[in-house]
Amino acid sequence: MTSDVQLPFAKQILFPAICVVCQKQHPDGVAKLYIHKGEFALSEAASTLLTGSAYTTQNDLIVFDNIPACNTCAKLLHTQHRRLKIITYISWLLSVVFIFALPVTIGWKIAVFLFFFLLPVIIAVVMPPALDITFSKHSVTLHFALSDVAKAFALANQATVK
Ligand SMILES: [Zn+2]
Repeated sequence: MTSDVQLPFAKQILFPAICVVCQKQHPDGVAKLYIHKGEFALSEAASTLLTGSAYTTQNDLIVFDNIPACNTCAKLLHTQHRRLKIITYISWLLSVVFIFALPVTIGWKIAVFLFFFLLPVIIAVVMPPALDITFSKHSVTLHFALSDVAKAFALANQATVK
């Protein structure tokens, strides 16, 4: 589970000088995250499954640089995000393979499809990255693995932790 802080989309985001991965004060580096506004959205998943190609239209790439993190922690954060992305794509691929290749009843196909479809979501909940960022229409939500980092972040941005 993560500690989440939601901010209005237009608000400037302030990061306190705490490593988002290990909580160290005044870390010696920064992390950079590239987040697609529509990433992991159902529409993207459905489009990927139907067309077999990655869904890219209306996908605004937002760069968060200057996220406080020790140099080694920044690498870890990037690895966590890459791992989640790889697991997601492999799961989608497997769900499609099973739908078309498995000689079983439609009920089983749906069950297997849902399992692989939900697997990345479950993994993201059980083993969340130190920091993940998601968007809705008018807000941006930062998901912190460490609740103390979330609290410091919420304080700096006059927001509350959910
Ligand atoms: Zn650190």
